[in-house]
Parts: sequence; structure tokens; C-alpha cells
Amino acid sequence: MALSDVAAVQRNEDGIAAVLSILKQRFGERFQTGAAMREQHAHTTTYIPTQAPDGVVFPETTEEVQEIVRACAALRVPVIAFGTGTSLEGHVNAPGGGISLDTSRMNRVLAVHAEDLDCVVEPGVTREALNTHLRDTGLFFPIDPGANASLGGMAATRASGTNAVRYGTMRENVLALTAVMADGRAITTARRAKKSAAGYDLTRLLVGSEGTLGIITSLTLKLYGIPQAISGGVCPFPSVEAACNAVIATIQMGIPVARIELVNQLQMRAIKQHSHLDYPESPCLFVEFHGSEASVAEQAESFGEIAAEHGGGPFLWTSVAEERAKLWKARHEAYWASLTLRPGAKGLSTDVCVPISRLAECIAETEADIARMGLIAPIVGHVGDGNFHVLVLMDASDPKEVAQAEEFVGRLNMRAIYMDGTCTGEHGIGQGKMGFLAHELGDAVDVMRSIKAALDPQNILNPGKILPR
Ligand SMILES: Cc1cc2nc3c(=O)[nH]c(=O)nc-3n(C[C@H](O)[C@H](O)[C@H](O)COP(=O)(O)OP(=O)(O)OC[C@H]3O[C@@H](n4cnc5c(N)ncnc54)[C@H](O)[C@@H]3O)c2cc1C
Repeated sequence: MALSDVAAVQRNEDGIAAVLSILKQRFGERFQTGAAMREQHAHTTTYIPTQAPDGVVFPETTEEVQEIVRACAALRVPVIAFGTGTSLEGHVNAPGGGISLDTSRMNRVLAVHAEDLDCVVEPGVTREALNTHLRDTGLFFPIDPGANASLGGMAATRASGTNAVRYGTMRENVLALTAVMADGRAITTARRAKKSAAGYDLTRLLVGSEGTLGIITSLTLKLYGIPQAISGGVCPFPSVEAACNAVIATIQMGIPVARIELVNQLQMRAIKQHSHLDYPESPCLFVEFHGSEASVAEQAESFGEIAAEHGGGPFLWTSVAEERAKLWKARHEAYWASLTLRPGAKGLSTDVCVPISRLAECIAETEADIARMGLIAPIVGHVGDGNFHVLVLMDASDPKEVAQAEEFVGRLNMRAIYMDGTCTGEHGIGQGKMGFLAHELGDAVDVMRSIKAALDPQNILNPGKILPR
């Protein structure tokens, strides 16, 4: 399915004009309608064309979010929550115009309960800001998408990152949420108890709902103790398949690896050039272990042996914080490093996830497809979870290249689905993946539509996302 097939959302010109006037009067400087501001709030880090909202509002409290949503509901005007705008599938676009609700001023850490290992934050707090705030407590929040995203946006996209293999995703790490629903009611989905069997699990319904069911105004998150020791390193392999098989063996052996990231040969070339690292230009696994001094050393030794059995190595590892920081910085900058492989190109970032037993096969078939189509498309993956990304570098102004990239991505999504996997392990559906949801989940999509219709009957919350017409 081409992106151009995505259903348009009808503009409600009269309603929009009325809401613009109400919000200007109520929020003054905290309501902006300048072109640059509007464009920036629909800007996507990928090739999906920008569809700007009509205005951008900066609330500071749950009550202000309620006021905005009530005004939009009364006039049937779309309202699109905005965190830091790093989502990759057109999530923050405004296909029917409307109001972008920017949460960046809701950026307070409300409470840290060190004894309970949890905290309560506003949605605009970014993951790095939270960890800076926690620095002196001996605790940390582990979920780390490559961008410094907002925690509201991360919950709304059910994000994860390099640590998910050990600590889970936002699904496992959000204990409770406060959210403003489409009629302006604010609800809290759970208390701070570590577990609860009280009624429907609205926390998990809202996590991953991409701003289509409610606007999150606070989150209760799990925290973890900073490990006593951390070791990590990079291990080269003769092929991607050998690396994947080493990952499967590592997981099956029960080694509690904290991070295990695949970088294919082309991606390694880009990382070496960008970050000036002295590693071999071959498929590599970036690995990290958390625990006591003795256990991280033991885990690293065991991993080195498994890697050698699969033709990999040498596995050079270190416990020195500065060296580890350098290598993970290089891994986190993989996206920007890739763009240097084709200066001026736009990146189309894909995101599939398969059962780990199918990972080697899925990546091998994908690499063959890349070669057959002559694409420049490096691969990185959170492979401990069976999740990987291909970044297709293309000239976004050339319709032929865009069509070719979409064809490739379509085949990749269907390949993952046929392998009992998913068309998105962490980025979400947004606009870009809508055409694949029914292939993956069939009639379950109708149930999703019923939920959306029940909770947002006027379709004002981020319309034109997740659910195809
Ligand atoms: C270089 C790079 C690397 C990345 N790596 C990863 C990765 O490893 N793992 C990963 O999971 N993602 C990754 N991403 C994608 C992105 O960072 C995540 O999707 C992130 O969770 C988006 O957060 P955000 O604050 O930018 O949200 P936005 O882009 O602002 O919004 C995303 C969606 O959430 C909704 N939303 C935002 N705030 C709220 C709220 N308060 N209430 C309700 N809905 C809300 C929006 O309406 C939108 O639908 C990467 C992106 C980039 C650019």
C-alpha cells in the first residue's frame, strides 16, 4: 500500500476558525499559529510529507489539557498530542488540520518513590531529563529509544530500545497513567501498586494508542537500581546469520544480557566513518551485561565462548565506563551515521519484529531483497527481541525511488507477518503502517475500531492514524 492511499480526514473549517479564536484568547503567547511553528509540529524524521496543524498550544496542567480538549470536542476539531516529534510513521501529522497540543511545558518530575522503585512524571519529561533527575538516587529508567523522546510520547507509541531485552518496553514499565479523554474527563488508570487485578487494564489500552484514545497528562513509571557493575563490548561475525545464531544461543542459555544489538556490514561502515571507531567492517554484535563485578565478567566470558562457537570474535569487552559510553554513543548515532552513506538522501526507517527463531532467516531474506533491488539500506537491530530496522536511503523527491522503497518495505512487513511476527516492534502504526494492520491482526482491527468509536465518537483525537477506514 502506498502512503498516498491513506484516507484523508475532512477539514472542519468553521470549527477550526472558532477554536483558533478561543485558544488565542485563552492562552495568549502559549498559542501559536506561525507557519514555522506549525510545520515543526508536523515534521517527521522520515520521508512522510508534512501535514501541518492550524495552531500549536502549550498547556501546563491537566486542567488546561481538559479545557483544550473540551473546546475541540464542542467544535469537532482534531487535537493531536505532541511530545518531541521524533516518531517515524507520520504520527504527529494533522491530515484534517486542527490543534497540536505540545506537552513540552508539562515537564516536571512530580515524585520519586525510591523505596517503591517508581516515579510520577508529567508527559513532557524526556527520558534523558528523567535520568539526570535520578542521578543521585542510584536509580534509573531504562527505556531508551535512539532519540531523546518525551515519556508521554514513548508511552503513546509503546516505545522500547536497546535495553528492552532485559527491562521490557513501555508496556512493562508504565504502572499507571492519568489521561484526558475525548470528552474532557481526566481519568487515572491505576494506583501505584506493583500489580492489580482491578477491572479492565486501561493503562495498557492507552499505552501504544498513539494519542487516538486519550492525552496522557501524567505517568507512573517503574525504576531500577543502577547495576553495581556493567561490562560490554563489540564482537565481529563472518555473517549476519552467524551473529543471529549466536544471539539465539545466548538467549536460550539464559544469559541475562542487558543489550544485544546487531549492526550489519554496511551499517558498521557508516558507524566507523561517523564515530571514528576502530572495529572491523563486518557484521557485529554490540553487547552489554549488568550485575555484580563477578557476574558481568562471567556473562562476558560465556558470551565470548558462544560467539566463538558461531565463528565470531574476538570479543573485546570492558568495564570502563568511558569506553562503554563511547561505543553506545556510536550505536545510538547509527541513524545519523547512515545518512552519511548517501548525502542529501532521506531515510525511510522500517521496524519489524519476528520470533527470535525466525530472525536469521528474516534478515537474510531482507538483505537478499536489498541487494536484488540495488538499495542503499543499512540494518540495525535490537535482536535479543527479534526486532530490527532497515534504513532505506532515497531521494524523496523522485517518485520512482519512493515507490521502490515502499515496495521494499511492504514486502518486509509481509515477510515479518508471515513469520508470525509484526510490522512494527516499537515505532508504531501512525500513518505509514496502517495498510498492514489488518494483514497482521484481521478481525481484531474491527474491535479496535469499536473501542475508538466508543471512546472518541467524534474522532477528534489524532484522527487518520492507526485505523484505516
Ligand atoms: C534517531 C531515532 C532513533 C529512534 N530509535 C527508536 C528506538 O530505538 N525505539 C523506539 O521505540 N523508537 C525509536 N524512535 C522513534 C521515537 O523516538 C519514538 O517513537 C518515541 O517514543 C516518540 O516520542 P516523542 O516524544 O517524540 O513522541 P511524538 O513523536 O511527539 O508523538 C508520537 C505519538 O505519540 C502521541 N503522543 C505524544 N505525546 C502524547 C501524550 N502526552 N498523550 C498521548 N499521546 C501522545 C502523538 O500524538 C503521536 O501519535 C527513534 C526515532 C529517531 C528519530
